[in-house]
Amino acid sequence: MGVDSGLPDFRGKDGFWREYPDLRKRNIDFEEMANPAWFSEDPHFAWGFYGHRLNLYRSSKPHRGFTLLQKWIRTLELESFVFTSNVDGHFQKSGFAEDFIHECHGSIFHLQCHSGCGQGIWPVSESFHIELDHENVHARNPLPSCPSCHGLARPNILMFGDFYWDSKRTSEQEREMEKWLRTHGTSELFVLEIGAGLSIPTVRMTCEREWKTSGGFFLRVNPRDHLVPAGAHSVAIGAEATLCAIEQKMSFID
Ligand SMILES: [Zn+2]
Repeated sequence: MGVDSGLPDFRGKDGFWREYPDLRKRNIDFEEMANPAWFSEDPHFAWGFYGHRLNLYRSSKPHRGFTLLQKWIRTLELESFVFTSNVDGHFQKSGFAEDFIHECHGSIFHLQCHSGCGQGIWPVSESFHIELDHENVHARNPLPSCPSCHGLARPNILMFGDFYWDSKRTSEQEREMEKWLRTHGTSELFVLEIGAGLSIPTVRMTCEREWKTSGGFFLRVNPRDHLVPAGAHSVAIGAEATLCAIEQKMSFID
């Protein structure tokens, strides 16, 4: 969903390094960069990366597919819930209700204290801005700080080897999703899985599990990893193109 809104594709070193040429020089790939240790070792470097993503996700516009999904939900009077590993906040930005979204890897628009002083998670304010030297993946002072202890703040995103990620917000969202699934336990689900890769298969596994539990229809949209279990369906093209093609077929609901 993100790539079609013009966001960089971090799968594969080449895509990642195209966006961050300085990291190619340093031979640092996404997995190594997305590590909380940088906030201790070199906070300006860590925020050079996450600050750039924050600015990018904030300034980019969710593509038409987000709007189409909401149109179908509204017109066909469907109950829906979003489960996403994207941290870009684009479901909220495009109009999906916050109470019906589970961001399993957290959100770049929320912060936590790096030293875990007990402050809890807080949202990024509209006026929050980080000055960047993008070429050198470097954030200039002042860096984001914790309102309680005034130490360094970091994004509330689950990183690799992240033992200190504050999962409270995501756990609450998870409980809401479980409740939603239980409430609709007697109905069949229409599971629409979009762009969920194999490297961290949380979204794929959750979609398959819920579809197997509830029955119904399962459509996997993925230009690369499009194989599906027996009885499920798949489309090997991108998110926006698929959703626009479905919209054409659904013109009867206009
Ligand atoms: Zn603190």
